[in-house]
Amino acid sequence: MSAYLLKRNLGDKEIFYNQITDVLYEKDLITFDYNRTLVKNPCDLCIEVTNKCLFSCKNCYCEKGNDVLSLDQFDEIVGLYQDKVMRICISGGEPTLNPYLQKMVGRLNAVKNIGRILSTTGWNFTEELASLMRDSFWTVAISLHGKKETHNQYVGANIYERSLKALEILLKHGINIHLYSVLHNAMTIEDIEHLIEIKQQYHVSVLRFIKIRKFGLYQSEQSKIESIIEKYLSDDIVYKKEKSNTFFVSAKMQKRMAR
Ligand code: SF4
Repeated sequence: MSAYLLKRNLGDKEIFYNQITDVLYEKDLITFDYNRTLVKNPCDLCIEVTNKCLFSCKNCYCEKGNDVLSLDQFDEIVGLYQDKVMRICISGGEPTLNPYLQKMVGRLNAVKNIGRILSTTGWNFTEELASLMRDSFWTVAISLHGKKETHNQYVGANIYERSLKALEILLKHGINIHLYSVLHNAMTIEDIEHLIEIKQQYHVSVLRFIKIRKFGLYQSEQSKIESIIEKYLSDDIVYKKEKSNTFFVSAKMQKRMAR
């Protein structure tokens, strides 16, 4: 078995996790199509460690607020799920706005045989965080939605340079990088080509294009670029499928857990 392939028995199933591509699968369900989860039952956990965010992405999935998961609450959730899942993702909001993020990463480092992901814009991503992740095979998924102007316009803030800075730190520390990119309506083919260049420059292992979904400001719009992107599809420049099979813990849980 590859050094990058984790295996666990969950229920009566053998579940595999490819740490480079961030793909979860059961052997019987594997196909040649790209799907991030090829499992019948949920076996990954996405923890929204805060719903705070300084940005306003047009296809934002988050019900934003000022909720911040505490370290104790994080520990409790991880304790409940660590034997039931194959992969744990830290997301937000913008997770780097949670002051306990570094400690949370340390806590996940101590969990054996599990996939670890951080999903972020790169805002506040630090050298300290990278060095903590370096030896525990983390994947850091950076959201980047085109060239500088396109990205900043989509996010509603001037953060392109911060995202690039995060990529530089990740490259320097040899951390597995994914790029997440929404196929939004302001995107052109030049943006797609720019993202492919960034992928090569920063040794990104997967560039994932995400179809516009009907939430945020895009309740009824369809992406104009989807029809021309097909030619870029390959094993590692991929299209996010609609399938999802994820446990999701909202930052709002902290209020319920605190009662
Ligand atoms: S970074 Fe964008 S998508 Fe993520 S929570 Fe903030 S506004 Fe929403």
